[in-house]
Amino acid sequence: MSSTPLMPIPGHIDPVTTPRDITPRSDGRIDLVGLPRAHIAELLSEAGLDAKAAKLRAKQLFHWLYHRGVTDFEGMTDIAKTMRPWLAERFVIARPEVVLAQHSSDGTRKWLLRTADGHEFEMVFIPDEARGTLCVSSQVGCTLNCRFCHTGTMRLVRNLTVGEIVGQVMLARDALGEWPNGVSEFAPLPDEDDEDGDAPGSYTANGRLLTNIVMMGMGEPLYNFDNVRDALRLVMDGDGLALSRRRITLSTSGVVPMMARAGAEMGVNLAVSLHGVTKEVRDEIVPINRKYGIEELLQACADYPGASNARRITFEYVMLAGKNDSDEDARELARLIKQYRLPAKVNLIPFNPWPGAAYECSSPERIRAFSEIIFAAGISAPVRTPRGRDIDAACGQLKTAAAKMSRAELDRLADEKQAALG
Ligand code: SAH
Ligand code: SF4
Repeated sequence: MSSTPLMPIPGHIDPVTTPRDITPRSDGRIDLVGLPRAHIAELLSEAGLDAKAAKLRAKQLFHWLYHRGVTDFEGMTDIAKTMRPWLAERFVIARPEVVLAQHSSDGTRKWLLRTADGHEFEMVFIPDEARGTLCVSSQVGCTLNCRFCHTGTMRLVRNLTVGEIVGQVMLARDALGEWPNGVSEFAPLPDEDDEDGDAPGSYTANGRLLTNIVMMGMGEPLYNFDNVRDALRLVMDGDGLALSRRRITLSTSGVVPMMARAGAEMGVNLAVSLHGVTKEVRDEIVPINRKYGIEELLQACADYPGASNARRITFEYVMLAGKNDSDEDARELARLIKQYRLPAKVNLIPFNPWPGAAYECSSPERIRAFSEIIFAAGISAPVRTPRGRDIDAACGQLKTAAAKMSRAELDRLADEKQAALG
């Protein structure tokens, strides 16, 4: 259950979100995806197991669910054959429903997904030479109305559940065939007589496609704090999806009161959607700025636990022609980063236009000039290159965000390499 009360914020930027736990199913069974060990154990005792058996079975189920990606109780070879139908009567192991799956010629994949109660949301996978980044959604729509963001225009908002968030990563592993001993959706089935399978935990980083996660899909993750945290804990659990926190980045538009907790309770990399360096401009394009201003935000960044030169904070900056892209803006951005002594890098994102948007993208020359000013101040400021253009030309907030993060990650790795060398 939700432990964080909803935060009151005045006006249209107030997140009126619905806390959610388990989405009820029409067949009365309970979807285990999203539940931690203790909760699974509780459900098993409610169903009649004694406490000790419930705890043991919960541990086994957890492993099969999150580490092995098994969706059928019959595949759980260390659970007694007689117990498997007993589990299947009461529980399911579901995935978000896939409405549409697109595959770009550059390797980018995009999925339109649907919750059990019929809400659609997106997920994008962006591979490049060094890594594969999955861009995960935290809400259906967004309560914040950033003026350049298409998601901000969507009215319907509900928080995604823990299961719907971690379910995205699990679905991506299904599609990429990346569970330990897993099979790709295109590969032949494993030997069905192989009751034991291979040793659990044999999943290694070598040759993996999905290596990084960015919470940069639809929604503001810090307005769905508990569910995002609990989902990422399952992702980071060594007996769960087992992805290192260093490979996970959470992007926020600046929900200042939750940033310290994000650092303490998740410890993932932080990205901040800055997009403006004056109160006037940021108030307009990122309206949460009216509640939590630039100084407060940058102070929260300076206080973010774990930020260091090896784990820099990413400032996202969307390039809007004539709005936030002057030389003066660039100089102010560099000055602010220095004033707060932030271990930071800046990601310059060419604005991805959508029908009805009030802005245009800055020219390539302007973006280059902006980048050079920041770079001259000693701060890395790469410009991200668009990906997956052929599968989605109009929308693309998700892929924009993920593409630029994978650039940022590339950049970080390059720096780390440099540091290691010299
Ligand atoms: N709500 C969070 C995370 C999701 S939005 C946040 O705002 O940080 C992730 C990123 O998508 C934002 O930083 C923004 O840079 C980017 N974005 C949104 N709409 C965009 C657009 N039309 N063009 C380019 N980037 C966009
Ligand atoms: Fe919401 Fe982020 Fe879009 Fe702003 S940029 S409207 S916070 S999803």
